[in-house]
Amino acid sequence: MLHHRLFVPALALLATLAPAVAQDKRPTAEDLAKDNKLFITLATEALHWREPQEPFHIAGALNFVGTRGLGSYLFATSDGLILLNTGDPTSGPMVEASIRKLGFDPKNIKIIINGHGHSDHAGGFAYLKKLSGAQVDIMEPDIAMLEDGGKSDFHYGKDWQVMGQEPVKVDRALRDGDRVTLGEVTLTALSTPGHTRGSTTWVTHVTEAGKTYLVVFPDGGGFNPGYRLTGPDADYPGIADDYRRTHHIQEMLKPDMWFGHHTEYFDMEGKLKRMAQEGPAVWVDPEGYREFVAGKKRAFEDQIDREMGAKPQKQGDL
Ligand SMILES: [Zn+2]
Repeated sequence: MLHHRLFVPALALLATLAPAVAQDKRPTAEDLAKDNKLFITLATEALHWREPQEPFHIAGALNFVGTRGLGSYLFATSDGLILLNTGDPTSGPMVEASIRKLGFDPKNIKIIINGHGHSDHAGGFAYLKKLSGAQVDIMEPDIAMLEDGGKSDFHYGKDWQVMGQEPVKVDRALRDGDRVTLGEVTLTALSTPGHTRGSTTWVTHVTEAGKTYLVVFPDGGGFNPGYRLTGPDADYPGIADDYRRTHHIQEMLKPDMWFGHHTEYFDMEGKLKRMAQEGPAVWVDPEGYREFVAGKKRAFEDQIDREMGAKPQKQGDL
């Protein structure tokens, strides 16, 4: 199946780190749930967060400028650049170099936006804002964690020294349905909380060779090891309802193209290999989007069942 690898559970991916390590010595879901530092260390390496990736043009105004594992997207408009996500705290210079390689000036970034405020996506915000003077537009509930470097994050706040990033001043508070426009590009911000309270799904159009495509960047529907969704220990009151609403919104969207804040979500590597032959149409993948959203929803319902004692504890989703 074309998309089966999208839903390989995080632990299976993390296990590829040390194939020589005996099965019983590999970290369990419980180990990762208890130890945020272990989780982020393994994920950084196994999911290629800090490995360089050749930047490339996707379609229309849209370009990829992220790392091998972390999605970062550049919209080139007649009035300047919009940057969506910036990778982790080490990624700033890599994103900067990728923008230059594509022939654009990073100082011309006018607006920086994100999917959610964790350090593997907001890590380069401070660096790239200093470089460009861009304004930072963030969904209101994630503003605090951007401005305090992650200290107020409901799940990772206590480990902000490991999980946080350099604080950055936010210039515009976004609400559900707000638009970010520069030149001929408009992106609509949908509030899709759960993963963080301010997680944002971005919706836009790109036009390539006379064809216009609906493009979605889904975020917010996944949970990490150690998240608690029900009962008095829930990460925040109402988190399960937020996830359900988010999954519902994402189910209703019917994009042609879709991209993730983690590159394995949408099989970037596989599609990129085919792009030389097939052109931008390789990114048209409505079926992959449906499977992705369904996978996040299924993992969420399984976790609820486990928390209610209806299923044995086992590995979670990323
Ligand atoms: Zn995250």
